[in-house]
Amino acid sequence: MNIILLGPPGAGKGTQARLLVERRGMVQLSTGDMLRAAKDSGTEMGKKVADVMARGDLVTDDIVIGLIEEHLRSADDDTGFIFDGFPRTLGQADALGDLLGRVGRRLDAVIAMEVNDEALVERITARSTCGNCGEVYNDITKPIPEDGKCSVCGASDFKRRSDDNEDSLKQRLLEYYKKTSPLIGYYHAKGDLHWVPGLGEIEEVASGIARVLDNL
Ligand code: AMP
Repeated sequence: MNIILLGPPGAGKGTQARLLVERRGMVQLSTGDMLRAAKDSGTEMGKKVADVMARGDLVTDDIVIGLIEEHLRSADDDTGFIFDGFPRTLGQADALGDLLGRVGRRLDAVIAMEVNDEALVERITARSTCGNCGEVYNDITKPIPEDGKCSVCGASDFKRRSDDNEDSLKQRLLEYYKKTSPLIGYYHAKGDLHWVPGLGEIEEVASGIARVLDNL
């Protein structure tokens, strides 16, 4: 099964993708994570995208499509992919369709996560992640454990994303509404779109997604 998690920054795509990896053995393909890894390891491409990401703009289609293609071809997987943060433009959506066709796969569902902007600002400015395993924490809803150790891997190195600040978030939201939200109509027209309420507790949202996947 291959699915897309679609929603604005802070909608909880990464958190839900991690649960699907854990519970269904699916493979998460997050272009945001791939770009951050390229930036951290100082590759030419990483240097090129660093400023774009810090501003909250979208990286060019050719770069992210190239990353997804590379991962799709190298992943040896039978349980399916979760596209997290990709596609983000109509061009990327077309490219994904072509790419899946070429590797003999199909898209089974697009899960659109329904949230509102106030909740996004609150979630993003309170967010931190474990520097070792990527577990996501939130100062209000899921604080870092009192012993200062990640509940998943025990590491004690937590990070806040440099683009999780109000200026960059404003730009990321604008980019979402301008360039990514048209994908809702695109996938609706193809009959692939499923809305899931994204504002509840993590497990409630996970149940909403599970209901969609179990009824495909
Ligand atoms: P994310 O972790 O998905 O919030 O992505 C962080 C940043 O990486 C975004 O604000 C963009 O600058 C860039 N990015 C991630 N995925 C894409 C994509 N599919 N297309 C263009 N830029 C992307």
